[in-house]
Amino acid sequence: MPVIKADLDLCQGYANCVMEAPKFFDISDDGVVVVLQEEFAEENRAKVEAAVRSCPVSALRIEE
Ligand code: SF4
Repeated sequence: MPVIKADLDLCQGYANCVMEAPKFFDISDDGVVVVLQEEFAEENRAKVEAAVRSCPVSALRIEE
């Protein structure tokens, strides 16, 4: 199953990813992304990819 990876050093807490896919992303009290579910099913790929693309600092990627 594909897995979501987040680079917490890059994340600036813009929360674009949360807007795109709130089931998979949240923002911690420290203002960085929290991946709520690392693995995702194919049916959720479009949502996760949209979230990855939405990140202005490219902190998210999908590991196949
Ligand atoms: S969109 Fe990128 S910078 Fe913003 S919270 Fe998500 S991972 Fe962090």
